[in-house]
Amino acid sequence: MSRTESFRSIKGTFDILPEPSSSDGTVIAGSAAWRFVEQTIAETMDRYGIREIRTPILEPTALIARGVGESTDIVTKEMFAFERGDTQYVLRPEVTAPVMRAYLQHSLDQQRSVQKLYYIGPCFRAERPQKGRYRQFHQFGVEYIGSDGVAADAEVIVLMIDTYRALGLTDCRLRLNTLGDESARPAFRDALVDFLRPHAPKLSETSARRLTENPLRILDTKNADERAILEDAPRLIDFVSGASRDRFERLKDLLGAQGVTFVEDPFLVRGLDYYTETAFELESDLLDGAQNSLAGGGRYDLLALEIGSKTAVPAVGFAAGMERLFLALQGSASALQRDAAPDLYIVVLGEEAERWASVTSRVLRQAGVRVEADLSARSAKAQMREANRLSARQVVVVGENELRSGVARLRDMANAEETDVRLDAEALKAGVASSLFVVNPEATR
Ligand code: AMP
Repeated sequence: MSRTESFRSIKGTFDILPEPSSSDGTVIAGSAAWRFVEQTIAETMDRYGIREIRTPILEPTALIARGVGESTDIVTKEMFAFERGDTQYVLRPEVTAPVMRAYLQHSLDQQRSVQKLYYIGPCFRAERPQKGRYRQFHQFGVEYIGSDGVAADAEVIVLMIDTYRALGLTDCRLRLNTLGDESARPAFRDALVDFLRPHAPKLSETSARRLTENPLRILDTKNADERAILEDAPRLIDFVSGASRDRFERLKDLLGAQGVTFVEDPFLVRGLDYYTETAFELESDLLDGAQNSLAGGGRYDLLALEIGSKTAVPAVGFAAGMERLFLALQGSASALQRDAAPDLYIVVLGEEAERWASVTSRVLRQAGVRVEADLSARSAKAQMREANRLSARQVVVVGENELRSGVARLRDMANAEETDVRLDAEALKAGVASSLFVVNPEATR
């Protein structure tokens, strides 16, 4: 690379900047909006007694291959995997298998009979980048590990909806299906393959490959011709046991009792191998067609066994895309602007004032006041402009005269009112605080 060539972020990844920005037609929310969303998620989780877990970005490749499933798209095509020494690493493409690994590794079942865990963090998939589909993206998700009760499935679904509601997204569509237990799968798979084989020449290349590798995934197709063929295909619900069917009825009843509306979708199988019984997906019309899924999840009672546990560990959870959430929120993105404006801007005139301002702003900041002061010895006019741009609530101008007299003018930027203030941290703090709580300045005069 020549010295004049500049570096750019890798396609399908992006920078989160202090201000909203755009990349390849996608608006990327600013960091303050991300923090607001993350906090809202954390607060919702708190109310449900769900505690945070943070696992490494790097995991053993075999964990993902076995956990997510050897024949899934993620494992066959989308892993950022590499070798160093004799270890195979993967940048995690999802977080459910890593969370289950951590649960087993640290025997978290010894601490609580049901572990309710959530995570927020980056994931990596080598997909073709497009709107709503990136190579580095962020997921938040919840895992209830240790309960096989249908009440856990219902609570996970309801809290997922509550999290979106807390963020202002109420108009989502919940799709729901049951995959039955593992006993239903082989017979259904055989029936589906028998049904589809005569249609094989009409199937897309991907679906034709899936017919031998992972036939259930064909049900996920968005291809209109294939959907038409599937209209007459055998239905999974006819293969699941009576117990699974009862369980599904109970789930629907629990959701209905809480006013949660849903559509039953017999074609919903989800992309990952580890699901059993409940499967669900949350969609939004605010997102474009193929990428309209906000979140998805289900029960995955087999995952622990797949990744080496001697005993089965029942679990249910969901994973949600943060970027999709921001895309859906774009219409109301202004509600997410939580950039904190300074309480006080100090206009600094001269070296002595600069010294005073550096000492005083530190004292004020330690006392909890948001202070900005000029760092570049700019003109008074330029500094006032900056105070305006930052929407500072109060401005104080400090130069030689003010330092000599020990008094300066404190200007309330909302109403241009000025008051004298003693030039010490205590008095400034009091001056700033009083302006913050005055609703009607006329009344207090
Ligand atoms: P999955 O783990 O595939 O079930 O995905 C769960 C959620 O993560 C999806 O509903 C999307 O919101 C989000 N998601 C998955 N893959 C990507 C991606 N490549 N880019 C952005 N978001 C994604």
